Amino acid sequence: MIKAEYIWIDGTDPTPRLRSKTRVLESGDSLPALLDSLPQWSFDGSSTNQAEGSSSDCLLNPVWAGHDPLRGGRNILVLCDVYVPGGLPHSSNKRYDCKGISAEYEKEECWFGLEQEYTLMSNGRPLGFPRDGYPDPQGPYYCSVGASNAHGRQIVEEHLDLCLQAGLRISGINAEVMPGQWEFQVGPLGPLMVSDQLWVARYLLERVAEKYGVTVSWEGKPMKGDWNGAGCHTNFSTLAMRTQEGLYEKAAEALRGSAQMHISNYGHGIEERLTGLHETCSYEDFRWGVSDRGASVRIPLQVAREGVGYIEDRRPNANCDPYLVTTLITHTICKELRGE
Ligand code: ADP
Ligand code: MN
Ligand code: MN
Ligand code: MN
Repeated sequence: MIKAEYIWIDGTDPTPRLRSKTRVLESGDSLPALLDSLPQWSFDGSSTNQAEGSSSDCLLNPVWAGHDPLRGGRNILVLCDVYVPGGLPHSSNKRYDCKGISAEYEKEECWFGLEQEYTLMSNGRPLGFPRDGYPDPQGPYYCSVGASNAHGRQIVEEHLDLCLQAGLRISGINAEVMPGQWEFQVGPLGPLMVSDQLWVARYLLERVAEKYGVTVSWEGKPMKGDWNGAGCHTNFSTLAMRTQEGLYEKAAEALRGSAQMHISNYGHGIEERLTGLHETCSYEDFRWGVSDRGASVRIPLQVAREGVGYIEDRRPNANCDPYLVTTLITHTICKELRGE
């Protein structure tokens, strides 16, 4: 017997949440062949903001499977996208268009590296914040060591191990600028794969934190005032950008024309975070610059020096849907680089 944890993204407005339920399967197959034999499965969409009670069935369609490091053994995690009974993608299913764009621009060999920031919360306060009042101002917490500055490391370390065991391409972790705030990075991978893996990594984090009675806030600005927000910096390159000098400038500039459209799809509450302070550029402006953490788009110093490599879109919020973000960036930049 295999326990398969079917994971999906619900229809919660304005920010979707993760859901999952377990199916016990009798199968002699193992991964990756097992993915092809996994059945579709229905669920009650009226309980996830995805359907009316009168016709509540929605369909889970398995798209990714990996070892379940929480249960171990032959058990698996199964990421799904959601369809309505007629066979069309549900309106909450942003993966569908991401798949289309990925195929359309396959030749460009797009790579994404996503820097997922998040805040660990206990009793409605970030870890490291006293019940009343505030901790010392920001300064010592980023990449900190020591119990007075690093809060929640056990969860963070366990999460990293689980991601590696599940087969995710997680590329690093670090403590962030605000107490209780951390980051993990996924990539570099193509648009669809990086988004699938980011959602599974988010799932694993929620599950580890659950064990400790801690909640994960994906909010872009969990603490108002003089505290850093949480983003999902999105690093992007195409094969041409990685090999032909100077193309990074064209790619960064391509994002100017549709800046507002991108921002409106980069996560709820983004205006609260993109204030122009705390290492952000205002949501009303668009600016790119070399090594500039106050720009919308940063060109890493080494990329400017070598003339080839990736750009960093610093705007996406921690609570963004990576399917939307990678779809838009791929489309906007590749279209421009193709001269279409
Ligand atoms: P920062 O310096 O902004 O904190 P990080 O090291 O946290 O950057 O994250 C950078 C991310 O970019 C990593 O996930 C890394 O794998 C990814 N990355 C590296 N090279 C490329 C590339 N050529 N194209 C896209 N992403 C890349
Ligand atoms: Mn980073
Ligand atoms: Mn960061
Ligand atoms: Mn960054």
